[in-house]
Amino acid sequence: MQRPDPLETLLGLTRLLSTERSLEEALLATTDAAMLLLPCDHASLRTYDDDRRMLLSSARSGLARDKSPSSFRKGEGVVGIVADSGRAALVADAQTDARFVQRPDAGFDVRSLVAVPLFAGGSVVGVLSASHRDPDVFSARDRDMAQLLANCTAPAIETARLARLAVTDDLTRAYNYRYHHTRLAEEVSRARRYGDRFSLLLMDLDHFKHVNDRWGHQVGDEVLRGFVDRVRDEVRDPDVVIRRGGEEFVLLMPATEETDAANVAERIRARVAGTPIDTEAGDVPLTVSIGVATWGAEESGAALEARADAALYRAKAAGRDRVEVAGPEE
Ligand code: GH3
Ligand code: MG
Ligand code: MG
Repeated sequence: MQRPDPLETLLGLTRLLSTERSLEEALLATTDAAMLLLPCDHASLRTYDDDRRMLLSSARSGLARDKSPSSFRKGEGVVGIVADSGRAALVADAQTDARFVQRPDAGFDVRSLVAVPLFAGGSVVGVLSASHRDPDVFSARDRDMAQLLANCTAPAIETARLARLAVTDDLTRAYNYRYHHTRLAEEVSRARRYGDRFSLLLMDLDHFKHVNDRWGHQVGDEVLRGFVDRVRDEVRDPDVVIRRGGEEFVLLMPATEETDAANVAERIRARVAGTPIDTEAGDVPLTVSIGVATWGAEESGAALEARADAALYRAKAAGRDRVEVAGPEE
């Protein structure tokens, strides 16, 4: 297939990114452009938090487009090495290159790989990578083209990344309480305007004080992160995971009716209770109590949350590790 003129592609991309975009939109526009600029069958882009401890967000185009890219630990694999060194990497054949870490869950084959850093304010904030199932695909010119693409998009991605960090909880990478207020108000006004209902899950970890007492606060922190990962695994893309504070979390589910919300709540409950959280101190068993409320009857966001709170209270009182659905009058 004839690839379009690189200049046209870069011009279109920078024009698109000059208007405000969410982090995901900015990332996806970049990986889509990589598919046009490079002879690859897959492109992905990962962005990090400030100390590059955790993946903040990511996007991929081409093969396995609907799957989130896997995360890499610091310095691990080609992506980790590029993030740490700030230098581009070209892999001619992943089968013989010691830097490459094969991911059995990747869902596609990688033989050729090019990976370049995204810089902002003198540090690496992301890594763009492109791959192909055949060996020896990328030239030094392709690597430079990838770096040019990264350099073009880094300012827009950095703006979106900083905006995201401001509404992100440091410990778990869930959204923070500041975002909760804004988003809940948005969902209520959308529901009023268009009449589509949405649901809210209030999730409080059971006897979390015991977790801290028995394993220590650090392991408690790991459990909080593990819980958020688990919830993310069980929900759809538009659903938003928020840390309301301490060991309390909210799941906002746009366009979701009560029955579906209750099913998701039960799935989360069962998943958490069914598999202990893997921490450096070993497996930590965990359960969660959940209150479910679905918006209706023109109520305010605060009133909806209060009904979810009351349902959660009932779940706790009834013995924990339970889901309770809020009635219209709580
Ligand atoms: P219940 O089943 O009634 O919810 O019991 P609980 O022990 O979970 O209840 P409570 O709300 O009294 O205790 C919450 C605990 O969560 C107390 C606090 O030390 C712990 N916690 C809150 N924030 C954090 C955190 O960021 N990290 C850790 N490790 N623990 C936290
Ligand atoms: Mg609590
Ligand atoms: Mg609790």
